[in-house]
Amino acid sequence: MTTLPYEIVVGLEVHTQLKTRTKMFCSCPNRYGAEPNTLTCPVCTGQPGALPVANRQAFTLAMRVGLALNAQIARATKFDRKNYFYPDLPKGYQISQFDQPITADGFLALASGKKIGIVRAHLEEDAGKSSHMESGAGSLVDLNRCGVPLLEIVSAPDLRSSAEAIEYLDSLKLLLRHMEASDCDMEKGSLRCDVNVSIRPHGATEYGQRVEIKNLNSFRSVGRAIEAEAARHHALQLSGGTVEGETRLWDDEKAVTRLMRKKEASQDYRYFPDPDLPPHHISEEWIDDVRNTLPELPVARHARYRRDFGLNDYDATLLVHDKQVAMYFEDCAALSGDAKAAANWIGAELFGWMNETKQSVEASGITPARLAALIKLQKDGTLNVPSARKLFAAMIGNADDPAALVVSLSLGQVNDRGAILEIVRKALLANPKAVEDLRAGKQKAAGAIVGFVMKESQGRANPAMVNELIAELLPTL
Ligand SMILES: [Zn+2]
Repeated sequence: MTTLPYEIVVGLEVHTQLKTRTKMFCSCPNRYGAEPNTLTCPVCTGQPGALPVANRQAFTLAMRVGLALNAQIARATKFDRKNYFYPDLPKGYQISQFDQPITADGFLALASGKKIGIVRAHLEEDAGKSSHMESGAGSLVDLNRCGVPLLEIVSAPDLRSSAEAIEYLDSLKLLLRHMEASDCDMEKGSLRCDVNVSIRPHGATEYGQRVEIKNLNSFRSVGRAIEAEAARHHALQLSGGTVEGETRLWDDEKAVTRLMRKKEASQDYRYFPDPDLPPHHISEEWIDDVRNTLPELPVARHARYRRDFGLNDYDATLLVHDKQVAMYFEDCAALSGDAKAAANWIGAELFGWMNETKQSVEASGITPARLAALIKLQKDGTLNVPSARKLFAAMIGNADDPAALVVSLSLGQVNDRGAILEIVRKALLANPKAVEDLRAGKQKAAGAIVGFVMKESQGRANPAMVNELIAELLPTL
């Protein structure tokens, strides 16, 4: 890795849609993908006289995330109006939290142990979505997203490279998913990220002028934007220019940032407490209740998999990365009584199929119970490894009982000693060279014999028995 002639300083603002049943201040469903403007009411479309009521579930989810981020939960919190005009913001202001965010002052630890400060995480409402018609005939607005609860998580400027920023985002996404707070689906906009970038000489303690970058649609573009923007600052400084405080947009195709507007300061938004919403008091009991029912953190789950299931670091990391997969694994481990085998089948065959077909676990039709049944058939000697793989492939999209499939596809392992003996004898006679080598002590030569037997038995011969019989028959030939 080449060392850059400057140090990159990055802070991230992550907006995540909370997975509540209803919107932040009204009872409209919080659901993605509905027909435009069908999930709206007078409150979320900003009709005169409509009054907002704060969503308790959004508070609980925000508190969960706050606690998981080692942050303080505010005992007193309130909502403020952030005033600005936007066509998809019918009220002319966004309800957000200014000086009393629900949670603040935490950290997220990276794998290296480095702690990235969390300055604050506050609740607010999402805006609607405008789309501009390609014909140029006009713009359309969909207000379904208006009022969807958002948690904005603001990190300290503690990140020092694009790789570190991506690791932070990965860890945060994992944590939000494990807390069941958000789907974090960037494609559906339930996780969005703004980046603050500045540069400074190595060893400097003061920060350089920061620039905010918006419009980042993937973690990859976050990384590329950070590098491109830092390089722009450096080039500007080398040519005698100065970096201005700006908001810029990332153009992923051209790999450049472009000026969007001069950075506005918070006074530009004329924040003031929302007179329609009372200040909220959060009781110690409520915080305790959330703490006591906090879902297991990814780090704790990883440690538990290593300790209780004896998994290696690689397998544990793979399984913990997605909560659904983790739950699937735990069910399968419990049902099969063999965690290691469950981890292997999920890691190799199931992930292999998912990667190849780009489909979900559910679409495979292989439930934890069905995979556990397969593992048991392998453990009790009904299936050897190649037959178990064949059964796995046959189970995809086929709801038949795995044991019934073994019979209908004739996959059962042949454990009949007499039958295998005949095939082994045939194999030995057909491979005189291998027999000679085996007699000379070259154990590798057994491979040719075993291969012959497996081919003859359509992969169904019990391999242990095959090896045993080769050793037994060899001296008799
Ligand atoms: Zn509504």
